[in-house]
Amino acid sequence: TCMTASEIRQQFLDFFAAKGHIIVPSAPIVLKNDPTLKFTNAGMNQFKDYFLGNKKPDHARVADTQKCLRVSGKHNDLEEVGIDTYHHTMFEMLGNWSFGDYFKKEAIEWSWQLLTEVYKIPKDQLYVTVFEGDAKENLAKDEEAYNLWKQFVPESRILLGNKKDNFWEMGDTGPCGPCSEIHVDCRTPAERAGGDGAKLVNADHPQVIEIWNNVFMQYNRLKDKSLEPLPAKHVDTGMGLERLVRVLQGKQSNYDTDLFMGTIHETEKLTGKTYEGSDTRKDVAFRVIADHIRAICFTIADGQLPASNEAGYVIRRILRRAVRYYFSFLDIRKPLLHELVPVLAAQFAHVFPELQQQVDFVKKVVYEEENNFLRTLGQGLERIEAAVAELGAATVINGKIAFELSDTYGFPLDLTELIAQEKGLSVDKASFDIALKEQKDRSRAATALDTDDWTVLDENAAVKFVGYTQLIANTHLTKYRKI
Ligand code: ATP
Ligand code: MG
Ligand code: MG
Ligand code: MG
Repeated sequence: TCMTASEIRQQFLDFFAAKGHIIVPSAPIVLKNDPTLKFTNAGMNQFKDYFLGNKKPDHARVADTQKCLRVSGKHNDLEEVGIDTYHHTMFEMLGNWSFGDYFKKEAIEWSWQLLTEVYKIPKDQLYVTVFEGDAKENLAKDEEAYNLWKQFVPESRILLGNKKDNFWEMGDTGPCGPCSEIHVDCRTPAERAGGDGAKLVNADHPQVIEIWNNVFMQYNRLKDKSLEPLPAKHVDTGMGLERLVRVLQGKQSNYDTDLFMGTIHETEKLTGKTYEGSDTRKDVAFRVIADHIRAICFTIADGQLPASNEAGYVIRRILRRAVRYYFSFLDIRKPLLHELVPVLAAQFAHVFPELQQQVDFVKKVVYEEENNFLRTLGQGLERIEAAVAELGAATVINGKIAFELSDTYGFPLDLTELIAQEKGLSVDKASFDIALKEQKDRSRAATALDTDDWTVLDENAAVKFVGYTQLIANTHLTKYRKI
């Protein structure tokens, strides 16, 4: 009998509730008042002020599942999505926190207990990592964590890691600290018998994956890059639900779990094509769509409409990327993504009801966006083909063409780069930037071009949009609505 994702999520929360944690709701995935971050990229974001000592928490121990998005800034996984089987744009981060309360001893003990006793992951498939220290930053090796792990894990499976993997930072500035991670070796018993598992940790092996990060928050990274100690020590952990579910359901890919199969099956029905879990572009397209629709839905539901600039453009870029995948690799010529919105809304109604509550509106926004891009997508692709034909033996596409594609056909630069990459080519960014700057100078002289397209929709479809603004008001984002 296989546990469902819902049961797995609940078991995590129940485990930490039993250890004195208060279960709190996910913060919105969209951040409107943090100049250092556009979207929530980790569970700890909503608690930043507790770490910094700016605010006092109501509870010293909390746990939750947090909607996260990693498509911009320090944590950007967009290029991996759909290509590998365990990086998503939007994912749920399960987390437990101690604000100045328990520290490494309890955090390490409990994470081990949960994984091996509650979830019953075989101990010999687990590896843990510990910060090795960093001379440049004057940071010592985390002996304390190492010795705590030694109680549970043979030393051959406790690995030392560098600043990149074992010193967690939210962004360029903000709370940070050494961390200890847990990785699972999901290869077959025969492969594991080779004994090389340790070498595959943090090496992008598709079956040896990181699932849980225990961060020991002790520092604040300042603008001048220096570290200052925080007023108190805290625990901040994050475990990717999709990866945990994949391990516990015995799958080789996050997409084979019940978190994604609903939208994948629906995409099969809509396209008449079959998902086979391979590396073909067709199957990558299935995965990209199943991933991107989640990011699109949950950000719109939390108050971020697609737009031509800033955070809204991040969402539009994801959406257009998904459209191009079904257009080119699933041979679909009409809007498809919006049909997946109700499937996702129903699936998550008991966890994130905000999507179900706005399902018609979100569906309409997605439909309009798809329709809009489908008008120019085909021509834009022809424009790229023509440019490629002219390249001859050269391998770099002039940035002016990438700019034309963006300006005339609505191709975000990263989409043009992706298409170029598929052909073994690249785009010259410098000439793109010059063309973009020239246009900005021109439009600054005329009128501001970067207006939000959805204000127009508001006038035409007042009733629908009023519903959305009221919902935004209910979720305390009132002052940011663009109406
Ligand atoms: P990775 O090395 O695999 O990119 P990470 O070290 O960047 O992961 P953390 O910042 O430590 O990830 O986040 C905590 C946990 O969140 C990870 O251990 C993983 O389970 C999960 N996670 C991180 N990024 C993603 C993602 N893009 N999609 C799904 N889960 C993720
Ligand atoms: Mg990462
Ligand atoms: Mg990592
Ligand atoms: Mg990590």
